[in-house]
Amino acid sequence: MAIDRFGRNIHYLRISLTDHCNLRCIYCMPEDMTFRPNADLMQDDEIIFFTRLFASLGFDKIRLTGGEPTVRANVVNLVRSIASTDGIRSVSMTTNGLLLKKLAQPLAEAGLQRVNVSIDTLDPAKFKRLTRWGKLDDVWEGILAAEQAGLAPVKLNAVVVKGYNEDDVIDLAALTISHPWQMRFIEMMPFAGATEIQVNQVITMKQIQENIESEFGKLEISNNGKMDGEAQVFHIPHAKGDIGFISSVTHPFCSACTRARLTSDGKLRLCLLREKEVDLLTPLRAGASLDELRKLLLDGVWEKPWGHGLADGVIPLNRIMSEIGG
Ligand code: SAM
Ligand code: SF4
Repeated sequence: MAIDRFGRNIHYLRISLTDHCNLRCIYCMPEDMTFRPNADLMQDDEIIFFTRLFASLGFDKIRLTGGEPTVRANVVNLVRSIASTDGIRSVSMTTNGLLLKKLAQPLAEAGLQRVNVSIDTLDPAKFKRLTRWGKLDDVWEGILAAEQAGLAPVKLNAVVVKGYNEDDVIDLAALTISHPWQMRFIEMMPFAGATEIQVNQVITMKQIQENIESEFGKLEISNNGKMDGEAQVFHIPHAKGDIGFISSVTHPFCSACTRARLTSDGKLRLCLLREKEVDLLTPLRAGASLDELRKLLLDGVWEKPWGHGLADGVIPLNRIMSEIGG
């Protein structure tokens, strides 16, 4: 078991399959983003090796992310290997959905259980403005393909940005009336070289909830008031689906955090919003023994920071979200 010094059992690993992406969302990366060369990224056999290593230490839940995980070559076979690793109970993916129309069925057959698809608005022009390159229809078809393939319950993620999509939360929330989906609203977070957008155009969870309630009335509590992962969940009365709020900035959920991240270049990252990392890939490539790698991993987990420091103005400067694995 991997335990940190605060007694939290860390058993949920987010693996970033690549830092590359086929979109350029304005809150995530600049349009002229440069990505790591492929040789610096974990190769397939290295990802499979690390999955086994983490699983041998009690990690049982994996989420594949990026960058955009579906642009990784061989993603279906990778999912198959990860899903069939002894000890892994759950494999899910966070994706922008652009390629799901083609990939949802093969991914489900390979053992993927669920997807979270990012969709910040239902307005094609605003979607293009937010993602710079995206076509909303492709994402919508991807969501339907995911549902068809049984990747359920489908969860949708929207980052809310002042001046871009703050009023679109109403149409997005309305999706849950007739679809059994969870629509999750995420507070925008600042990362390295925090852009003006990330600092000045944040909409808080409170504002989002008030906006939704002004249209649908008071939301009812779901899940007996328990968090669903990092989301507090509610529903519109009589709706088929739920509405989740992920308020990492204004209401951090650090005390209940059970997760660690493996970046696409093989660093163990203990907190999304803290710079501390432990390099696992360099020692692996240099021939470190299994015991040495196990010790690096367990020592790293032990030192997992208690929580982020946004309230004290501490912003992680070494990587942006897509380089960590959101
Ligand atoms: N490309 C995939 C996607 O967009 O779903 C997976 C990686 S993306 C980095 C993971 C999640 O992080 C997405 O839901 C995205 O909207 C969110 N995200 C990106 N930048 C963010 C920021 N600055 N603050 C909060 N969430 C952010
Ligand atoms: Fe790509 Fe996801 Fe970042 Fe958008 S949020 S640029 S889709 S990694």
